[in-house]
Amino acid sequence: MNSSHSSTRPWVLITGASRGIGEAFTRRFAHEGWNIVLVARLIEPLRTLARHLETEEGVKTIVMAADLTEHGASEQVYQEVKRREITLRGLVNNAGCGVDGLFARAPLPRSLEIIDLNVRALVELTRLFLGDMLSEKQGLIINISSSACFQPLPFNAVYAATKAFVTSFTEALWLETKGTGVRVLNVCPGLTKTDFGIRAGMGDFKSDPFAETPEQVVESTFRALKKTQPTVISGWNNRWRVRIQCRLPHRWLLFLVDLYQRFRKRSSKRESGAKNEV
Ligand code: NAP
Repeated sequence: MNSSHSSTRPWVLITGASRGIGEAFTRRFAHEGWNIVLVARLIEPLRTLARHLETEEGVKTIVMAADLTEHGASEQVYQEVKRREITLRGLVNNAGCGVDGLFARAPLPRSLEIIDLNVRALVELTRLFLGDMLSEKQGLIINISSSACFQPLPFNAVYAATKAFVTSFTEALWLETKGTGVRVLNVCPGLTKTDFGIRAGMGDFKSDPFAETPEQVVESTFRALKKTQPTVISGWNNRWRVRIQCRLPHRWLLFLVDLYQRFRKRSSKRESGAKNEV
């Protein structure tokens, strides 16, 4: 694309833009001709990606280092966008985190951090930018939930609960914004080949044969944007799992989820034990 058109291109802000699913969204939006505001905590990976996109795709970029778990950080991001006189046409609330293990054993500040990032920052950014989008009568908000939103998850109790919130909140907004020109979409990836699992202590998702690539999640999202649905579950295996579990009596579902999570914990413990022996 020709960089001379970059001043007339729409702007999208993507949180957690530096790696994983957020990076794949950033690359795809740039390829589709959008200028990008990239947000994450570490500035250097954002700068490297931004420079690459400016050269390869001819788009404009702005990088913002922000820890969105900090109170006031979302407001600062919003004010910085305003200060630069940018009218956002798109917002992708992607940054998220989790932690593996029993709720009672996890430090409370860590659990609250998950709520701050996955829920509070997402709600704040949505509220701040939605007002402007409604005034402009156009806009796009993509909230990244998870297929973990469809059932409680022992050992990931807070994470799954935050994603249930994201799905409920986003689908409600989908209804509230109907006919306003603002498109709201809730995205539920299943296991995806990023470093998320390692960082959360859940294991290496990159070696899971059933995991999707971040690019597949982005492709499912862009396909869903051509339709009018409120939610997209990425990956046929995830769609089938959710379809089946929605038909199960709730106690059965809880029993099966518990069984699966205990099996997963035991095999990841065995794996890390085997690695330590090598
Ligand atoms: P990831 O590879 O760990 O990337 C997370 C991104 O968020 C990074 O850019 C990170 O950059 C940024 N980030 C983390 N904490 C932040 C904070 N406090 N403030 C601002 N930015 C922060 O994760 P991912 O797998 O791409 O996950 C992206 C989203 O998809 C999350 O919402 C996750 O819950 C959801 N999801 C993932 C999977 C999966 O299997 N991977 C499945 C379902 C749903 P910095 O570290 O520099 O801040």
